[in-house]
Amino acid sequence: MSSLSVAILKPKREKSLLRRHPWIFSGAIDRIEGTPGPGATLAVMDNKGNAYGSGAYSPHSQILIRMWTFDPHIEINADYFYRTIQRAVELRSAFINSPETNASRIVFSESDGLPGLMVDCYSNFLVTQFLTAGAELFKNQIVSALSKLYPHYYIYERSDEEVRRKEGLPLTMGALIGPEPPDLLQIKEHTCRFWVDLKTGHKTGFYLDQRENRLFIKRYAEGKEVLNCFSYTGGFTIPVLQAGAKKVINIDSSENALNILNKNLQLNNLDPNLVENMNGDVFKILRQFRNTNRQFDVIILDPPRFADSRQQIPKAARGYKDINWLALRLIKPGGVLITFSCSGSLQPDLFQKILADAAQDAGRFVQIVQRLTQAADHPIALNFPEAAYLKGLVCRVS
Ligand code: SAH
Repeated sequence: MSSLSVAILKPKREKSLLRRHPWIFSGAIDRIEGTPGPGATLAVMDNKGNAYGSGAYSPHSQILIRMWTFDPHIEINADYFYRTIQRAVELRSAFINSPETNASRIVFSESDGLPGLMVDCYSNFLVTQFLTAGAELFKNQIVSALSKLYPHYYIYERSDEEVRRKEGLPLTMGALIGPEPPDLLQIKEHTCRFWVDLKTGHKTGFYLDQRENRLFIKRYAEGKEVLNCFSYTGGFTIPVLQAGAKKVINIDSSENALNILNKNLQLNNLDPNLVENMNGDVFKILRQFRNTNRQFDVIILDPPRFADSRQQIPKAARGYKDINWLALRLIKPGGVLITFSCSGSLQPDLFQKILADAAQDAGRFVQIVQRLTQAADHPIALNFPEAAYLKGLVCRVS
């Protein structure tokens, strides 16, 4: 450990570390001793020489250090990554049974003690994202740990997330072990099968975080006409049709996503006549429906992240209010709104307030009947509450 560069905290800035929060902002650091490169492991100490553990140096980011460990005696090396990833895999095995699905998240960054690392498993492929300088520096050790834990799997990289730029890292993707994935790979989840595009699909290809919600919403679907806004490849379309929905109208701005959605209907032997796809902007199409007095039994709103940071919350709040207000106006009396926000910086109570405002303006009486969150393979470490990002409200609309 003696060869590590050292980050010295400003006085009284150790509080969040004592609570094991993994982020150290640049303002909390008094000085760095040594000449560490991006991603290098730094020992973190206060000015009295007390050691708090070690973390990865991100010289280009506001978050200057992300802690790997709060134990000053642990060395960050290949063995450390093997043990920590192994723990992440084991923890999930109790919650995600293989008969249930062959697609799940194996490593969820800070929530698994591995800041900047995401690993998702899809059938025989592991898809990785190295989102910080520290994760990038240890890529070889991480890939080697994954290949030991998953000897028969191929490993692919999707480090094409914009957040890499904040770390001064280029966007990159490609095969790390084995061949590139096929254009579409088949996965199963509960009673559904899905085609997933690992190479150009959103995130690592699929919204695994909605897995359990795809099951929950089935109970609201039988015999209903469902408007599925921001449908992507039909993650919600397939289960609601299996649950007996009379009709599903999907809206998405991505034509490619809707093409895969059609393939997913076929894959699940579902009748394409029950489905209508609209390739366009949800904000505009909901207004068209309002102008023509269209009504639906159930509306699902699962928009992309509207806020990337706290600064963007006011604008995001207006966006959420707008779509929820429009949707509420289009729901038949006694119908259901299933509405999500995946903006981590927007707190659940604010989301609920936005919905209350939307209900007020739409002149509807709205009751929350179920609260939804991210699936069990996206856990929220209590020392890192920022990991809680997905919130959903199922509402009865009178
Ligand atoms: N519900 C989906 C995930 C939705 S992701 C599932 O369970 O798999 C958000 C989707 O919204 C993406 O497919 C994106 O193409 C689409 N999108 C983003 N902005 C849009 C807009 N303004 N109008 C319509 N679709 C939009």
